[in-house]
Amino acid sequence: MQETVRELFSFIEESPSVFHVVENMRRELLGRGYGQLLESEPWELKAGGKYFVIRNGSSLISFRIPREDYKGFQIMASHCDSPTFKIKENPQMEAEGVYVRLNVEKYGGALLAPWFDRPLSVAGRVLVRKNVAEEQGRIVSKLVDIDRDLLLIPSLAIHMNREANDGYKYNVQKDLIPLYGMDLDKETFMEQISGAAGVCAKDVVGYDLFLYNRVKGSVWGAKEEFISSGKLDDLQCVFASLKGFLQSEERVGESVPVHCVFDNEEVGSSTRQGAASTFLQDTLVRVNEAMGRSSGDYRRSLSQSFMLSADNAHAVHPNHPDKACPTNRPKMNGGIVIKYNAEQRYTTDGVAAALFKDLCGRANVPWQTFHNRSDERGGSTLGNLSGNQVAVKCVDIGLAQLAMHSPYETAGAADTDYLVRAAKAFYEMSVDEPEYGVVECSSSFNSRITAK
Ligand code: ZN
Repeated sequence: MQETVRELFSFIEESPSVFHVVENMRRELLGRGYGQLLESEPWELKAGGKYFVIRNGSSLISFRIPREDYKGFQIMASHCDSPTFKIKENPQMEAEGVYVRLNVEKYGGALLAPWFDRPLSVAGRVLVRKNVAEEQGRIVSKLVDIDRDLLLIPSLAIHMNREANDGYKYNVQKDLIPLYGMDLDKETFMEQISGAAGVCAKDVVGYDLFLYNRVKGSVWGAKEEFISSGKLDDLQCVFASLKGFLQSEERVGESVPVHCVFDNEEVGSSTRQGAASTFLQDTLVRVNEAMGRSSGDYRRSLSQSFMLSADNAHAVHPNHPDKACPTNRPKMNGGIVIKYNAEQRYTTDGVAAALFKDLCGRANVPWQTFHNRSDERGGSTLGNLSGNQVAVKCVDIGLAQLAMHSPYETAGAADTDYLVRAAKAFYEMSVDEPEYGVVECSSSFNSRITAK
């Protein structure tokens, strides 16, 4: 197995919930000398320093301060959440007096059918009241992962549901309730969760727990062209962008390299820690202040900044080629997908695309283009949302994949490496880019983008 794919799979396996993704990244950054900043404390930043900040335990922004004065920010953003099911309060539900199920609700736009008949488990965080005398009343957050096959959502046999293959409409409250055990005490689930967290059940005062697919990543195909795993959307981009960000450390740039991973993209990003929140803006403003720069300096630096919004894209489906745009047809292993939408659900415009293609050329990375069919609505992503708070030039990109929002998605084995290389090149790129406001056209066909 390719080294990058192996690393990607272990990153995903160690990330059964958004809180685990952020904790994995936190450990990696601490190990590389990054200092953790708290939003609740003053920030003292030094030229040449490396830092990160976490909001809600589920979104993380890391950055490096150049040794010399900087011009702008080079930002790459992706999201750490995936469609799944969240465990409700009072989760245990009986059936037939012996079966015990867990009551769940849907998180994000999941493809429901592939959640059936596969081993599932539970991970997330619990909020625990500390009972030691000096910490009376203090509440701490602890990660929890049951880390074994624990649940399964059984299909109804075809003999009892003859419409199963004719477009059956699933009811989440009825059809998607996972089976947990038989003849259990009322408190079994919470005892199991608190046991896995190493705390007493009575001290657990809150939780955010989600289902996850236990099936491990696999490499397959005649020439091992394909990879399949849960959460490729968007942990493939989280992993690749972080790797590129860390690999670019050596270069002393003229910009502040910023790496963002946001929670809640799958439910619209409008949370305190989502891409539409002030998290990125607050962080950049505080960097600006800590470096003794004025608010005018901040605005000047935004005008010289650039963002890559990295979220996976749809490859042409081999069984449904008619679903793709007639002339923009991304393939797995075809390189980074640049996403376009006239109504700006993707931020890419001609200028941003030109800049990104130029970057790919310099990094020797192939690229391809995506539009929705003009009669399909398609999805949206991070770029235009974070752009509302931090208005910088932005391009929406991603890696081509199939079965988006299934608990087991498929992508190209070669593509992760392409994104690592493009991310590294992006963070190493000088921000001394022209202001893309004025286009000088010569009388020949050689129009060019030039500085103001
Ligand atoms: Zn996504």
